[in-house]
Amino acid sequence: MKSERKQVYLFYKPNDELDEKVQKLRELGKKHGFTLAESPDKANIIASIGGDGTFLQAIRKTGFREDCLYIGINDDKLGFYTDFNLNDLEKIELGMQAENIEVLRYPTLQVTVDDLQEFQCLNELSIRSNIIKTFAIDVFIDGIHLETFRGDGMIVSTPTGSTAYNKSLKGAVVDPKLNAMQLTEIASLNNNQYRTLGSPLILNNDRELILKIVQDGNDHPIIGADNEALSIRHSHEVKVKVSDKSIKTLRLKDNLFIHKVKRSFL
Ligand code: NAP
Ligand code: MN
Repeated sequence: MKSERKQVYLFYKPNDELDEKVQKLRELGKKHGFTLAESPDKANIIASIGGDGTFLQAIRKTGFREDCLYIGINDDKLGFYTDFNLNDLEKIELGMQAENIEVLRYPTLQVTVDDLQEFQCLNELSIRSNIIKTFAIDVFIDGIHLETFRGDGMIVSTPTGSTAYNKSLKGAVVDPKLNAMQLTEIASLNNNQYRTLGSPLILNNDRELILKIVQDGNDHPIIGADNEALSIRHSHEVKVKVSDKSIKTLRLKDNLFIHKVKRSFL
């Protein structure tokens, strides 16, 4: 690694047990010429310590930086974004030597709510009823009305997010090399009055998906970006595109997507 790439910010919730392990990680980093940055904006490497959920937070809280490498270090089991384990310093040390690692780019989603608020998602955008009643969404693809959905909600996931919420909704697992997005339903009503496609829909990266929340007075859907609920309420129109910005992350050459799927699910 070039020396200008060696300012590391550690993103984690400190606790006694973790602090001890993180101390060892710091020493290892020092040995290999890495320095710790006091704040994320001074860093060009941001390492999250925790699960996939912590990795998603690290990216969101630091603003989906394109000029930064993100690294996921788990304390427990390896996850989808966490390629390293705090209990396996040997592997981390291998990762500190450029020849053993690979830079990966993960597609993200660009979401615009009511032409006002814009944000990115790494796992998925979710729109969900937070009361017992259903609500309706008009689905448009490239300006063409596809269906009117009524049910608990819909999610749009990225390829890397396809193994998370999307998978629980019987969505397909998508190879992260595919630059695409997937629309999945959460408990749609399907009867003589309401009809939806009923299967997950995978869309190419040049499509524009618009979800119009039908306002019929008593609906309170919540909008979620990965593991964070947005504070906006009573939104009308949610536009989703595959973003032209991606997240750069590091992984060891022996930890491919198929390894992760097998390790987690089979
Ligand atoms: P959480 O409710 O604590 O975690 C949900 C589980 O999903 C955790 O085991 C988490 O792993 C795992 N996960 C996160 N991203 C993943 C990915 N890309 N591929 C495979 N597994 C993944 O919440 P969280 O840890 O903050 O994670 C947020 C994510 O949870 C959301 O983005 C959404 O995808 C998912 N979620 C799923 C459901 C569902 O399946 N019914 C409902 C709501 C949200 P770690 O334990 O390593 O964090
Ligand atoms: Mn979690």
